[in-house]
Amino acid sequence: MIDVHQHTNWQGHKTKDLIAHMDSLGVDKAWLLSWEAIDGGLDPNYHHLSINSVYKAYKEYPDRLIPFAGVDPRRERAEEILKEWAEKGFKGYGEQKLRICIDNPDAVRMYRLCGELGFPVLVHMGADLPGLRFWYNMDVDGLERVLKRCPETILVGHGPGFWREISGDADESTRNYPKGPITPGGKLPRLLGEYQNLYADISAGSGLNALTRDPEFTDKFIAEHWRKLLYGTDGLTSDHIELLKNLSLEEEIFQAITHKTAASLIKDE
Ligand SMILES: [Zn+2]
Repeated sequence: MIDVHQHTNWQGHKTKDLIAHMDSLGVDKAWLLSWEAIDGGLDPNYHHLSINSVYKAYKEYPDRLIPFAGVDPRRERAEEILKEWAEKGFKGYGEQKLRICIDNPDAVRMYRLCGELGFPVLVHMGADLPGLRFWYNMDVDGLERVLKRCPETILVGHGPGFWREISGDADESTRNYPKGPITPGGKLPRLLGEYQNLYADISAGSGLNALTRDPEFTDKFIAEHWRKLLYGTDGLTSDHIELLKNLSLEEEIFQAITHKTAASLIKDE
């Protein structure tokens, strides 16, 4: 199995704890993601996860970890820096979790470079809601503009701003993790169907909530979009694998979500 959303030095755990956790669940490999924001100090939630620490962990466990470099596109020489990491064996871009519009021109420039490098782009989206300061990579309409402008780039969406769009009534809800029945006409199912370059990371509370709030809808959603869904956790939890196991998926679908699709997105894996 491949977990497409992991970190080191996150929520108090170190690389060896991550590897032990992967062993306990039978996870062979994980995409190891950084979090770099040059304006991070403006975000009360920011926790710097350096690209260097990802590199160090990868050097320790090269057969288990697939390194991602989330170079902030607003940095000087951002493109050159990403190319340098590519030469050191990095395979993807992310986690990008920034307080910018997702189709910010500097970010689009990086996504295009990722298309050239064969790097999937993992983006965290957080909605702008009353009382919430944690918006990132706004918003779902911007995501569609990126998908159009960067057809050669694989975008992997994650986070509450992404998953709440599973439901047609997302605009009427003020909750980051909306509960209850999913109404038809959600932007996320439409985008997954229309754009070959969009994938969905089921990790964290956001993915879990979206796939458990309306079990009947979940069955239909997976039947339609299983080729675009990627198993991930974003922490030392077994919740996501338990969810997938409890859905009694056909073997082909289970294999696709838990490793085959993720492997197909990484060059030389
Ligand atoms: Zn994360």
